[in-house]
Amino acid sequence: MNKSDILKIKELVSSPKKIAIVSHRNPDGDAYGSSLALYHYLLKFNHSVSVVSPNDCPDFLKWLPKQDEILTFEENASKAAELLNNAELIFTLDFNALNRVGSAMQAVLEQVSADFIMIDHHQQPDDYAKFTYSDPSKASTCEMIYYFIQMLDDLDKIDINTASCLYTGIVTDTGSFKYPSTTSDTHKIISHLMEIGIDHTKIHNSLFDTNSYSRLQLLGTALKNLKVIPDCNTAYITISQRELNSYNFKKGDTEGFVNYGLSLKGVVFAVIFIEDQKQGIIKMSFRSKGKFSVNDFARTYFNGGGHDNAAGGRSELSLKNTVSRFLEIVPTYKQELQTSYEE
Ligand code: 5GP
Ligand code: MN
Repeated sequence: MNKSDILKIKELVSSPKKIAIVSHRNPDGDAYGSSLALYHYLLKFNHSVSVVSPNDCPDFLKWLPKQDEILTFEENASKAAELLNNAELIFTLDFNALNRVGSAMQAVLEQVSADFIMIDHHQQPDDYAKFTYSDPSKASTCEMIYYFIQMLDDLDKIDINTASCLYTGIVTDTGSFKYPSTTSDTHKIISHLMEIGIDHTKIHNSLFDTNSYSRLQLLGTALKNLKVIPDCNTAYITISQRELNSYNFKKGDTEGFVNYGLSLKGVVFAVIFIEDQKQGIIKMSFRSKGKFSVNDFARTYFNGGGHDNAAGGRSELSLKNTVSRFLEIVPTYKQELQTSYEE
């Protein structure tokens, strides 16, 4: 973000405003972490701030400070629309295309009079915001919120609530600091957050050690369904609606399952297909190691996108036909996948 944009934003937030912060559909740790971090920060300046999310978050994020203040469009569309229509400034965090909020909320956002400020680390941002702070080299939007606060000369305003939210987004989007996007600067931020006093052990426990028995049973089914395409260095998992139902599926239960495919020796491309009968789609998560871009793959074939090594997508075919289509496409990347493995 250039100096002149920062000066303009500084001017905008120098007097109390009605501000809305918007996160993407199916919010993850980075979406809610960045939204609530910015919320706690902006509240220090007497703004009237609200966070609006398209739908609810998984239980493992419910402990985030003031998570219960977030208004979800799915449950309270008219109140959410009113807040967005009345806002003077709207931050959109952790996404870069308005369709990521779902069609009903997108229609509202397209009509509002407020200016948008986008802060996001995904590739290929759309051009809807007056101020765009986009940096795909950053591992998480939470790191960008930290830099945004730094650019506003306010690092001393980061309190324990802001810090805990930032830590959550960074730890979840870096795979607990293991993805290649993690840098020494990431760790410098973490060092500062620890100085502020975050309880990292407690945050890890809240995020990662809250399995229900039924989730572990569902994981067992997912692992039984795991298939490998050895000559394409690819693994995939399917989970049907029936399987989800028999293990009392709750939002967030399948988080991280796709990584088991990627943990197999020799695998550089892993996919999970999850049937969602209510939405009439198959939701897909794509993960890769090395040069093979799942962002390109998801954009080209499955109406999705994301990052080079982590992306999402969807299909309106049945589970069986979606997998068949996938199995037709993957061999056309055989060479690229093998090269990605050898590098
Ligand atoms: P996940 O597989 O965990 O849902 O998503 C992986 C990454 O891709 C996340 O950063 C997520 O925000 C992004 N992502 C998921 N679905 C989509 C999509 O449909 N379009 C785009 N552009 N990004 C997506
Ligand atoms: Mn993110």
